[in-house]
Amino acid sequence: MSTGWTPGLPAPTHDDLNSCVQCGLCLPHCPTFRVTGLETSSPRGRIAAMRAVQNGEAPVTGEFTRFTDECLACRACEPACPSSVPYGRLIEAARIQTEANRPAHERTARRAGINGVIGHHRLTRLAGWALATGQLLRLDRLMPRHLRLASPRITFRGMRLPLPRSTGMGPTAMLLTGCVMDIAFRPVHRATLDAMVRAGYRAVVPGRSGCCGALAAHAGEVESARRLARQRIIQMEGAEVVVVNSAGCSAHMRTYGHLLADDPEWAARGQALAAAVRDAVELEAPPGRRVEGYVAVHDACHHLHAQGIGPEVHRTLRAAGATPVDLGDGGRCCGAGGIYAVLEPGMAATLGEQKARAIIATGAPVVAVANPGCAIQIRNHLDALGSDVAVRHPLEIVD
Ligand code: SF4
Ligand code: SF4
Repeated sequence: MSTGWTPGLPAPTHDDLNSCVQCGLCLPHCPTFRVTGLETSSPRGRIAAMRAVQNGEAPVTGEFTRFTDECLACRACEPACPSSVPYGRLIEAARIQTEANRPAHERTARRAGINGVIGHHRLTRLAGWALATGQLLRLDRLMPRHLRLASPRITFRGMRLPLPRSTGMGPTAMLLTGCVMDIAFRPVHRATLDAMVRAGYRAVVPGRSGCCGALAAHAGEVESARRLARQRIIQMEGAEVVVVNSAGCSAHMRTYGHLLADDPEWAARGQALAAAVRDAVELEAPPGRRVEGYVAVHDACHHLHAQGIGPEVHRTLRAAGATPVDLGDGGRCCGAGGIYAVLEPGMAATLGEQKARAIIATGAPVVAVANPGCAIQIRNHLDALGSDVAVRHPLEIVD
């Protein structure tokens, strides 16, 4: 059993690992630690495990893989850390290592889902049609519970909802239509295009849709993530602003320069695109309509912890006349985490149910959610508790 990192692959760096002084201040902010109470489920424990591999004391298999798999990559530990440990960077690099060392059968199954279906938009749409058919015929009841809880609601009508190629006047802003957003959340795209026009842009929908690579990067599939990043750069560079209405995608696209750092030309193009990225809630568009009443706000981890976005959602809702209501759970992760709910169903279900109960406790009839993974997880867990609270992107609420 070989120990240490696999040579030739990105790995957590000495500097990043050594920036952790093991103070433990991040522990109470970590959702997996809060559920299990185990050091190995905490940021400090995971960093210690990475150090053990780095020092050649442990292999990148077995326990190490379990510790890193259980991490949501929610980055709630980052703002809590007095030493500014770049935990998101550490866990992404560690996952590249664990992916490369998984047994072949596990790798093949994971790659088929991430590289095959999500990484190729025609296959993503085909999967969407299959899911819509299954849901229409109520065959989804035959799926295992954790897969049902991780599945978006898809309708044929929603998948076919037309989007204008170009609308409005002003500097060009391009909308990332993405993968899951494009098949399951087209009404959010419509609301975002309206907001782009209200913010004074010529809103453009690029010809071919496609994934930004966030799901591949979070799963450690670095080559797939780089391929998708290059596709998006070719498609969208030149736009003055690239608008992204999924928190996970805007956070990921802001790392394109770092992701493509192995090639100076692509790194520079990646950095330029990253600088053009605006999350849709940062648009500062005037509201499209007036909204009365309370709106519960779920802050997506990739807004709050990865990009420091939070007040923007409240501001957007207040500008339309709504009263935003905090969930009072300290912005705890809902357990969606990309494909986490499929791979770690136990932890995901615990966190999903906690989040749904916190939303119901506010008494608000609608919850604002700006990330597709969170929206799917929250909708399904609200349903499981028999709640009819509506789940909407903040821009949908004010459009
Ligand atoms: S990650 Fe930061 S907060 Fe957590 S133990 Fe290390 S230094 Fe402390
Ligand atoms: S990213 Fe989230 S789950 Fe992972 S160690 Fe940090 S706080 Fe915990």
